[in-house]
Amino acid sequence: MIIVMRADSTEQDVQRVVERLGEHGYGHHISRGEQRTIIGAIGAPDHEKEEVAGQFSVLPGVERVVPILKPYKLISREHNPRPTPVMLGDAQIGGGRLGVIAGPCSVESADQVMQTARAVKDAGAAALRGGAFKPRTSPYSFQGLGREGLEYLAAAREATGLPIVTEVMDPRQVDRVAEVADCIQIGARNMQNYDLLKEAGHCRMPVMLKRGFSATVEEWLKASEYIAAAGTLDIILCERGIRTFETATRFTLDLSAMAVARRETFLPIIADPSHAVGISSLVGPMALAAVAAGADGLLIEVHPRPEQALSDGPQSLTPAAFAELMGQIRTVAQAVGRQV
Ligand code: PEP
Ligand code: MN
Repeated sequence: MIIVMRADSTEQDVQRVVERLGEHGYGHHISRGEQRTIIGAIGAPDHEKEEVAGQFSVLPGVERVVPILKPYKLISREHNPRPTPVMLGDAQIGGGRLGVIAGPCSVESADQVMQTARAVKDAGAAALRGGAFKPRTSPYSFQGLGREGLEYLAAAREATGLPIVTEVMDPRQVDRVAEVADCIQIGARNMQNYDLLKEAGHCRMPVMLKRGFSATVEEWLKASEYIAAAGTLDIILCERGIRTFETATRFTLDLSAMAVARRETFLPIIADPSHAVGISSLVGPMALAAVAAGADGLLIEVHPRPEQALSDGPQSLTPAAFAELMGQIRTVAQAVGRQV
C-alpha cells in the first residue's frame, strides 16, 4: 500500500506513520516531493492489507491510503488474463458468444412458463430465466411460487432444452434450487449477503451475480470474489442499473461499470436492461447499447401477457417484441465481433 500524506502534514506525522508501519512488520520507503510526501509500505501480508489500510487512513496528516494489490484476486485479470466463458448447460456466455437469457420476472403458472420458454427459444435465447423465489420490495407483493415454481421451470427445460437460471435468496434454499437450476441468480438486493454468496460458491454451479443498485464496481467484484473463494469461478456478472437522481427510468444502466469490470476481471459480464429502465419501450435501445459496449450477454424479461404479469409487467417484452429485438441484437453483435 501507499500512504499519501497531506500537503500540511508535519515531519512528526510522517515519523508516526513510519513507526506504525514498523509495528505492523512493514518496511517503508519515503518519497518527498515538492507538494506531498508519499510513504510506500513494503512486505505486508496480503490478508492484512485492507484492515491495515483502514487504520492508517485515520492517522494525523494522512490524506489517503492506496492499497496496491487488488482486493480481489481469484477473479482478477492478474490471476487469469483471458476473458473466459461460462457454460450454462450447452449454452456459452462470453468468449465471443453473446448469450441472451430471457423469461418472465416471476414464474406464475406452468402454462405461462412453458409458453414463454417456447417463445424465447424460438427467438434464439440461450437460457430461460424465471423467479420462483422473488425478492420484492414490498412484503405485500407477490412473493413467488417457491418450490412449485421450480417444478414448472424444470418442466420447461425438459420441453425446450433451455438451461434454467433462477434466483435464490436464502442460503438454506441453495441446495434445493441447485437441484433444478443450471445457474443460480443472486439478485441485486442480496449482492452483499455474504453467507449466501459463500453457500452459492460451495455448490460449484454457475452463479449469476447482479450488481447491487448502490454498489460500486469494486464492491461488486469483491462480492464475486466471495463466490470464487468458496469454490466456483463460473460466475457471470450482471449490471442491472444503479440508483441515481434520475427518475425517468427505474434505475440507470451503468455501461461504464461494465467497461471497468471488463478491465479488471476475466469473468463474463452481461447487462439487464429490463430492470435498469423499467419501461418496455426503452429495453431495446439499452440492450443494443450494452451489446455495442461489449456485453457478453443480456438478461431480458419476457412475458406472454405483460399486462397480466404479477411482477415487472411494465418492463416485460411480449414474445413478438422480443423476437424483433433479437434480430437487432444479432446485427449489432455481429458488428462488434460476437456471435449470438
Ligand atoms: C429480477 O431479476 O427479477 C430481479 C428482482 O432483479 P434485481 O435483483 O436486479 O432487482
Ligand atoms: Mn424482475
